[in-house]
Amino acid sequence: PARPVFAGQLPAGLQTISNVVAVSSCKGGVGKSTVAVNLAYTLAGMGARVGIFDADVYGPSLPTMVSPENRLLEMNPEKRTIIPTEYMGIKLVSFGFAGQGRAIMRGPMVSGVIDQLLTTTEWGELDYLVIDMPPGTGDIQLTLCQVVPLTAAVIVTTPQKLAFIDVAKGVRMFSKLKVPCVAVVENMCHFDADGKRYYPFGRGSGSQVVQEFGIPHLFELPIRPTLSASGDSGVPEVVADPQGEVAKSISRFGCLC
Ligand code: ADP
Repeated sequence: PARPVFAGQLPAGLQTISNVVAVSSCKGGVGKSTVAVNLAYTLAGMGARVGIFDADVYGPSLPTMVSPENRLLEMNPEKRTIIPTEYMGIKLVSFGFAGQGRAIMRGPMVSGVIDQLLTTTEWGELDYLVIDMPPGTGDIQLTLCQVVPLTAAVIVTTPQKLAFIDVAKGVRMFSKLKVPCVAVVENMCHFDADGKRYYPFGRGSGSQVVQEFGIPHLFELPIRPTLSASGDSGVPEVVADPQGEVAKSISRFGCLC
């Protein structure tokens, strides 16, 4: 059972949410949205009430990764609130469900859109709101973290040395905001072929992160064709294959949130 961590201090729509988990990365394309969506469905599979907020206004992935029947957010005109759409019991909000295409906006406008989508939504009682953060550690990310007190952050990266530098930025941002980073996910760490394991991006930068920043948990996700196919099909991998390798791996760090 989730504990209420910030009830009373927040915009009305957020007061009924017990835990907010940010899934973050410094760069795009490392698998942040894949991890966020599969983490959310893993938590729901454990019996939690869950919502996903896709805060990536420039490139919303949620409408591709999850296929709710109703692909548009509804408004409650009297209360001037947003009613999330839903897929398999998870409440979903994304700019991509707002009936507009990819956004061309300046930073302050993006912050305004994120703030409005997040705080005027009727989330209802949730144990977890998983936020798919926009990539990076700039103003938009900071503003978002200030609108909603985060319970925990999960940082997604790939195993290169270069990615280590990015993770360091993410860790620094969250530590400034006093948000615990509960896990680093090294995505696309290896693949198996012809009975051998290959490490296309090298090895070792993840354990450096753990040592240097004291983040106690490092998780690896392999490159899996099914994971990218499920991302395109609208049915998350952990829903399509709840006993599979990805579901097992994600449930281990889901327990930390
Ligand atoms: P980000 O949110 O960081 O931009 P995405 O989650 O959208 O990244 O992933 C980028 C692309 O890589 C997507 O097409 C996704 O399906 C694919 N992908 C992510 N992780 C894996 C993986 N472990 N194995 C195979 N494909 C993956």
